[in-house]
Amino acid sequence: MGQEGMGYNNGKGGGGGLPMTAPRPRGASPLSSHHHHHRSRKIHRTFNNVKITVLCGLVTILVLRGTIGLNLSLPSQPTDADALAGAKAVEDIDRILREIRSDSGPDDDDAGDLGGYNATALNGTAAAAAYAEAVGRYALGPKISDWDGQRRRWLAQNTGFPATVPGGKPRILLVTGSQPGPCDNPLGDHYLLKTTKNKIDYCRLHGIEIVHNLAHLDTELAGYWAKLPLLRRLMLSHPEVEWIWWMDSDALFTDMAFELPLSRYDGHNLIIHGYQDLLFEKHSWIALNTGSFLFRNCQWSLDLLDAWAPMGPKGFIRDEAGKILTANLKGRPAFEADDQSALIYLLLSQKEKWMEKVFIENSYYLHGFWAGLVDKYEDMMENHHPGLGDERWPFVTHFVGCKPCGSYGDYPVERCLKSMERAFNFADNQVLRLYGFGHKGLESPKIKRIRNQTTKPIDDKENLDVKSKISTTS
Ligand code: UDP
Ligand code: MN
Repeated sequence: MGQEGMGYNNGKGGGGGLPMTAPRPRGASPLSSHHHHHRSRKIHRTFNNVKITVLCGLVTILVLRGTIGLNLSLPSQPTDADALAGAKAVEDIDRILREIRSDSGPDDDDAGDLGGYNATALNGTAAAAAYAEAVGRYALGPKISDWDGQRRRWLAQNTGFPATVPGGKPRILLVTGSQPGPCDNPLGDHYLLKTTKNKIDYCRLHGIEIVHNLAHLDTELAGYWAKLPLLRRLMLSHPEVEWIWWMDSDALFTDMAFELPLSRYDGHNLIIHGYQDLLFEKHSWIALNTGSFLFRNCQWSLDLLDAWAPMGPKGFIRDEAGKILTANLKGRPAFEADDQSALIYLLLSQKEKWMEKVFIENSYYLHGFWAGLVDKYEDMMENHHPGLGDERWPFVTHFVGCKPCGSYGDYPVERCLKSMERAFNFADNQVLRLYGFGHKGLESPKIKRIRNQTTKPIDDKENLDVKSKISTTS
């Protein structure tokens, strides 16, 4: 068990904040620097495109053979016209894929690459001045200073859209997102679909609204920074929403019965998983996890987003800010500024200003690091039941460092995919159970019937009372 068994290992790259294996950057392979990573990804992309082209060619030939006729025993030389049509189809598919990919995100262009630039410190240099100037220029949007008043007035005038849902609970909007283009590997898209389905299920069962965003609202803040302008925009566009909840695409709900203990957070505006001592004593770069957190829709949250965003613009600023973060946060490898480190740094350097309204949660897994959890699901099913949310039945299992949609994660792809499949099925069992089914095993997409059918579904309450059924043991 070691460190992975301790609640502490909520890390980005698999390392705890405590001495053990060196944590690795989100987005970088274990041995590569950011720039190396950058180039190898490009080569890999090109290679992928070639692979796809060849595949498309094969498919086209197969289809052509199928449509030409059944005389496969004859020497089936396609005619010139067929060959031309086939080549044209391949070319079209290739072009379309290239068009989709040409604009697919932060890693595709070198806007941020300053060639030979490699200053290591910023003390009193021209780089420091340039950085200070650039950071000062950036804003998420026009400064808003009376959001609380504006929102209160809107709610008073629009009583049909109250900030609570029937039953009186605060209205929650779950927000997730993924890159605008296809994943490097089709399996990545398959798991994106599964993690999205998982979120839809949880939200449906708990009366939560959901947004899945594919756009980069601010091209400067692409990648893991994209959540910041998105959260700001959604708060402003949805004054009826009381809590806005970000969840990474690579995080799954694994306790379908657990509900956020919102009343506990009455005096707080940011709820995030983490550990106070890792933050303020160790200054660890994994003291908090930005894969799942909630903001109250209020002026304070807009202010925090404004204070959080300036390290995000890609290129010079993000690269320089990365050096500051690495110099100041324990365990952080050298790479560009990421949203998580930037938040930790902000809360450390302006503790008095922000911490009063920040709730650091670890009494349940608002974020749970996958590596310590996925192998224990069978034990959990044997000994516990949904609704607990903590290590007995984790609320969220987050595949930090797996990069299922990209090409370079910190862990072997097979281990990540197998583990994601287990987490998905573990959760899906809790959903299928409502309808009388369950997976044959945690690694199987196949299902079996777990209840006899009835001719009186309503009398037998087969389909009803859905919520109370999730939480009971089998
Ligand atoms: N993301 C996004 N748009 C993008 C790229 C990423 O919304 O163009 C989101 C996506 O939900 C992803 C999250 O940013 O899960 C953070 O990245 P990741 O999960 O890969 O980082 P890790 O949790 O491994 O540190
Ligand atoms: Mn993630």
